[in-house]
Amino acid sequence: MKKILVIEDEKHLAEGLRLNLSLNNYQVEIASDGIKGLKVWRSFKPDLIILDLMLPEMDGFKVLEEIRLFDDRVPILILSAKSAVEDKIRCLKKGVDDYMSKPFNLDEFLLRIERVLQRSDWSSEANELSNEIPSKIEFGKCWVDFEQRSALNAEGNIIDLTVQELKLIKVLYQNKGKALSRKFLLENAFGYSIDANSRTIDNFIVRLRKYFETEPKSPQHFKSKRAVGYQFDS
Ligand code: CA
Repeated sequence: MKKILVIEDEKHLAEGLRLNLSLNNYQVEIASDGIKGLKVWRSFKPDLIILDLMLPEMDGFKVLEEIRLFDDRVPILILSAKSAVEDKIRCLKKGVDDYMSKPFNLDEFLLRIERVLQRSDWSSEANELSNEIPSKIEFGKCWVDFEQRSALNAEGNIIDLTVQELKLIKVLYQNKGKALSRKFLLENAFGYSIDANSRTIDNFIVRLRKYFETEPKSPQHFKSKRAVGYQFDS
């Protein structure tokens, strides 16, 4: 039985979804705001998430960003009254699998869920050798804890990292030992390539070196690769 998490604050809609999804043999949990949504996501480990954008406590964009920081694969379907193209684009850039505007047709909704789940089955089969990384990684004297969003820097101090910094470290770590272009890093860490230039990555790397390198001028972990970009070595 596939598990679906519905993060939706409109009570009637949420209950209606619960009923219809249960009738279609899905196991359903509902969360009525963004913070609760993240909490249930962690404990329930759903196969698919249905996410509203306008939510109390934490909006859907933030929830989406948080989930994608730790899980690139769980399918997320946005169900929103916002139908502006910019909102759709923003969601797709952040790794959404499908987007439906309210009001919606129930049959279409169920079909889309089925399709998204099917696709995710295929891709997880294709992804047997997953490049999931542990929630805490170590290199040199430093460590980064993705769940706590904290790190131990080169001076032995605990520091807080931003979501963007964490994402970039994650992509570098997943591809450690490989020279990566700025374009690759932009697309894979931030999900965009047009509205940011490659200087963005350079600035991030400068910051990461300041945090994690004993001698930022001769980095041991966040290395420059001439004519390519950067390479992470643990
Ligand atoms: Ca709402």
